[in-house]
Amino acid sequence: MNYILFGPPGAGKGTQAKKIVEKYGIVHLSTGDMFREAKKSDEKISALMAAGQLIPDETVVEMVQKRLQKDDVKDVKKGFLLDGFPRTLNQAEALDGMLKKENIKIDAVLSIYIDNDEAVKRISGRRVCVCGASYHVLFLPPKQENVCDACGGTLVQRTDDKENVVRDRLTVYENQTKPLIDYYKKAGILVEIDGQQNEKEVFKQIETAIKAEAGKLGS
Ligand code: ADP
Ligand code: AMP
Repeated sequence: MNYILFGPPGAGKGTQAKKIVEKYGIVHLSTGDMFREAKKSDEKISALMAAGQLIPDETVVEMVQKRLQKDDVKDVKKGFLLDGFPRTLNQAEALDGMLKKENIKIDAVLSIYIDNDEAVKRISGRRVCVCGASYHVLFLPPKQENVCDACGGTLVQRTDDKENVVRDRLTVYENQTKPLIDYYKKAGILVEIDGQQNEKEVFKQIETAIKAEAGKLGS
């Protein structure tokens, strides 16, 4: 099973991705995570991310192409979950080309909808740990303020989650990424998920969608 998790910043993609990969044993491929690693040694990437701008398509596509060739993706027959990719029409077309070559199909694009006010609330309250755990000051607070439940590390706010960058990221989403909803609707693989509900309710919708897809394949 191969899925794309789609939605604006703050929709809950990372949160739901964690639950999906745990339940279905597929590989989580988050381009945001990959670039957070890459920005440590690449000033250009670091500057673009800090400004809430997208990384150029060629760089993104090359990185995803390489990642899809790695053993953990190729060997895990169960499939993968793309999170944060594609984000432009060029990226979507490049992905189609890559998958066609490998004879791989995307079962569905799980498109999580939230409105702008909710996105701002979620992003501005997000706190993360170097270990990868993610919290929200109101909706998912750690047991002890600013301390990671999982590893005891100090929680921080992502640079691109600061209020002045959040609005820019939402505009980038609106202009460059949202048009992909129509692209995948036309391809007949878009499944809409109401992301305004709590984490559990959102996951229930995703489970139902995945079950329906599996049913179509007769598995
Ligand atoms: P994305 O990966 O789409 O940018 P995240 O999964 O990181 O979004 O979620 C953004 C913030 O919102 C996090 O702080 C997370 O804890 C919180 N969050 C995620 N899903 C929900 C939800 N359904 N209700 C309330 N808060 C949520
Ligand atoms: P995310 O963690 O998905 O919110 O991504 C954080 C940042 O990484 C984005 O604001 C972009 O700067 C960069 N990024 C992640 N995925 C992509 C992508 N598919 N295309 C371009 N830039 C991306």
